Amino acid sequence: MSDLPLADRSITEVARALRDRQTTARALTDACLARIDRDAERLNTFLALDADAARRAADEADAALARGEGSDRPLLGIPYALKDIFVTRAVDWDGGELPGGLPTTAGSLILEGYRSPYASAAQEAFERAGAILLGKTNCDEFAMGSSNENSAYGPVRNPWDESTVPGGSSGGSSAAVAGGQAYFALGTDTGGSIRQPASLTGTVGLKPTYGRVSRFGMVAFASSLDQAGPFTRTVRDAALVLGALAGYDPRDSTSVDTPVPDYAAALTGEVRGLRIGVPREFFVAGMEPGVESAVRAAIDVLRELGAEIVEVSLPSTDRGLATYYIIAPAEASANLARYDGVRYGVSAGAGELWENYERTRGSGFGDEVKRRIMLGTYALSAGYYDAYYVKAQQVRTLIKDEFDAVLADVDALLAPTSPNVAFKIGAKMDDPLAMYLNDACTLPVNIAGLPGISVPCGLSEGLPVGLQVIGRAFDEATILRVADAYERAAGFAELRPPTARSGGEPVSA
Ligand code: GLN
Repeated sequence: MSDLPLADRSITEVARALRDRQTTARALTDACLARIDRDAERLNTFLALDADAARRAADEADAALARGEGSDRPLLGIPYALKDIFVTRAVDWDGGELPGGLPTTAGSLILEGYRSPYASAAQEAFERAGAILLGKTNCDEFAMGSSNENSAYGPVRNPWDESTVPGGSSGGSSAAVAGGQAYFALGTDTGGSIRQPASLTGTVGLKPTYGRVSRFGMVAFASSLDQAGPFTRTVRDAALVLGALAGYDPRDSTSVDTPVPDYAAALTGEVRGLRIGVPREFFVAGMEPGVESAVRAAIDVLRELGAEIVEVSLPSTDRGLATYYIIAPAEASANLARYDGVRYGVSAGAGELWENYERTRGSGFGDEVKRRIMLGTYALSAGYYDAYYVKAQQVRTLIKDEFDAVLADVDALLAPTSPNVAFKIGAKMDDPLAMYLNDACTLPVNIAGLPGISVPCGLSEGLPVGLQVIGRAFDEATILRVADAYERAAGFAELRPPTARSGGEPVSA
């Protein structure tokens, strides 16, 4: 048993305690709710919450546990949160309110108060698993951002230092897991939005292979890049959550029908015999020295554990940013056309159709979203399409081919997750390019459609640093194995923000 407060422990630990009847789903839920009560308003982590519904679900989970149903359901009775980009069933098809239903805003005013008549595949998967939904977490508007400062509902604060950002766009999810408000949370990663906030909050963040997890019911940003994945406190926990989430879904045409391995079984603690590459281009210019030294030290740990570490080259890495900022806005401009004030959410209610479109979209979308729509529309327009969009698709293939060639020779890659630790709220808001550079090490992985995980590898200036492990398509098992072996050897699995230990609920179960 760790001596961490109940709310700050790993899923693995509390799930064992649940099965051994040393705690209850209700106690876990109350521990998270106490932390939410204490901190959530200040940190601005949640956009919607239903404590009563969570307590009711906890009581049902306790009844199932009492019937002995826990043994093959590792998430039964575990409280979690969803990024507010996953739709949650809130009304029936006639519009009638459903008890415990939560709205979905995607961090945007244009969806303020929107209530979905259906559940996302993620909500369904966790319902089947018996996990307890606490609420919906704050995020950058339509997942566009790296700091969670683009939410229409205000920035999220990092529990490690409340004057800094928790990363983005899944900042509410990262801060909630770091701060003891949920045992796991789901995020989405289009260019780094799970791994980068995990890095900045000292949590584990996993982006699965494109096609591994259903995107059904996930508000679309850039459909060829978007993937859902978990924030957890340990690598083993990430393996458990991925196991519940992964799998084929015919409702998502990009979902791939390939078997889901037992991810937890892959965590052997052993990396001997693995050949792991370190792409030199990922140590980008402008990287903070404290980040570089923590990441290099982490690579040494894996070498000492017996992995064969080799330097490799991915020469097109520095084209990743430009490629991403054509493709993602282009797809976003098309996806966001559906918010027209007629079909979804808020409407300005102006008389003429075009006037209504203009007013609704003019007042409903924030600045960053408008910037992306304009960039994307421009890149797709006649005359520029070949020069920008087609060219970007060609470079995308080049980047993917380079990854494939290198990964034919090595089993996985090691790199920094983010070139910097958490920065001050406001520090990069006037400089979009500086903000975009945050994702230099994560977005090539989305461009290539590969899986990546960020695992804490120490502190720099008192703030967490993340090590990124990148793998072959559909080989999440290997990156989980490498990250877990590192986590066991490095001893950062109980790294928590200083606020975690300052009370709020009973220390032991
Ligand atoms: N920061 C990147 C962007 O703003 C990535 C966002 C994401 O992964 N959702 O587009």
